[in-house]
Amino acid sequence: MIGDLTAFKQLLSKPIQITITAHQRPDGDAMGSTLALFNYFIQFGHDVKVIYPTDYPIYFQWMPGAQESWVYTEHQEEADKWIKESDLICCLDFNTLKRIEPMDEIIKEANRPIFLIDHHLEPDAFEWMLHDVQACSTCELMFRFIQLMEDDSKINADIAQCIYTGILTDTGNFQNGATNKAAFTIVGQLIDKGLEIQKVQMELNQNSSESRLRFLGNSLLNKMTVLHDLGLAFIVVNRKDSRTYNLKSGDTEGLVNYPLSIKGINISILIKEEKGITKLSFRSKGDINVNEFAREHFEGGGHKNAAGGRSIFPPDWIIKKITEIISKKYKKKN
Ligand code: 5GP
Ligand code: MN
Repeated sequence: MIGDLTAFKQLLSKPIQITITAHQRPDGDAMGSTLALFNYFIQFGHDVKVIYPTDYPIYFQWMPGAQESWVYTEHQEEADKWIKESDLICCLDFNTLKRIEPMDEIIKEANRPIFLIDHHLEPDAFEWMLHDVQACSTCELMFRFIQLMEDDSKINADIAQCIYTGILTDTGNFQNGATNKAAFTIVGQLIDKGLEIQKVQMELNQNSSESRLRFLGNSLLNKMTVLHDLGLAFIVVNRKDSRTYNLKSGDTEGLVNYPLSIKGINISILIKEEKGITKLSFRSKGDINVNEFAREHFEGGGHKNAAGGRSIFPPDWIIKKITEIISKKYKKKN
């Protein structure tokens, strides 16, 4: 851990007020790490609030502590007060405060000590940091953090479900490039702490709506373009699709991974049109660095093989730009 560990332990030695937050549109790792930390801190009598900058998918509502969390945009006044009065702010699963818009302003204004736990590339500097890009997930770091605090015995079944959710989702079910040995060893230990693998599987993957599955089918059949000579595929989700399939927060999660199952396709991009902005998700195989790509061209970032970004331009313009760049830079040699 970077920062003065003695001072950190001192700060936590008596009950204090704590804010825990994660990036916009929290995914399984953001939800899992924040709620694991929540369920750890409450055991010491701290006053803890998890505040997400935007709402989270319905399929995370079962997670222990989720119901007690706030969505910033729905509780702004109380949340601003809570943040200003906090003795510690824990920032999880993101590397720069821009990732928590519109909450970033109040966090900066509050000027409280910040503890960052994250595995994304190139983080900003804060008072305390547990950061490792080799970690498969922020939830791996959460497990390591509790061990660092010598509190292994505090890992209960609730914390186990949370940490498992983050490891499972960030490794793409133990399949993508983030998957490491720790993913397996930690899960083994979580089983001893009461982890129920089947429960998590049911909540995350067998709880969806019919329209979400039909949306997936339509996206793959009608909205996916495959450019074999560039090793590139992209899927476009327009605002009309969002209306037709009544898309909710998180409903596009995982869609971007499908094109990578095609032999020879090394870059997959999901282009989602939203009100006033187009959101982008990038995935790649092997050495192709989509983090660099997202940072350079789309105000984004993330990991080498999984990154996100945005643009004020419509999907057609973005597709043209991306194909131009990729033709120049990543054109397949064979
Ligand atoms: P996703 O495509 O699933 O939204 O995101 C893939 C990865 O990139 C995640 O680790 C996510 O935190 C990160 N990411 C997504 N959007 C952005 C962005 O706009 N900026 C940065 N720095 N990272 C992002
Ligand atoms: Mn993560």
